[in-house]
Amino acid sequence: MNEKLIEKKLREKIKELGGRAEKFIPTYFVGAPDRIVLMPGGRVYWVETKSTGDKLRSIQQTRKRQLEKLGFKCYKVDSKQALDRFIEEVKKDVD
Ligand SMILES: [Mg+2]
Repeated sequence: MNEKLIEKKLREKIKELGGRAEKFIPTYFVGAPDRIVLMPGGRVYWVETKSTGDKLRSIQQTRKRQLEKLGFKCYKVDSKQALDRFIEEVKKDVD
């Protein structure tokens, strides 16, 4: 599955859950994940979308580690299965 389609499905599914998956275009925070997912109750998730099989670049791995160290949840979503897993995690946090 290509990245554009994954991003589209991510946006749709998060919207269904009452949240927003906004494109994050950093001016200085190079390598930041593509999307910041904002959910009711102030929950925040960072998502790097990739076409199936593509790996995180080195700077993207670094940003993921930095964000996780601050306590944020970061995900790489590169397939329908990975998207479904991410959505399940988001749903779990609501309960
Ligand atoms: Mg990407």
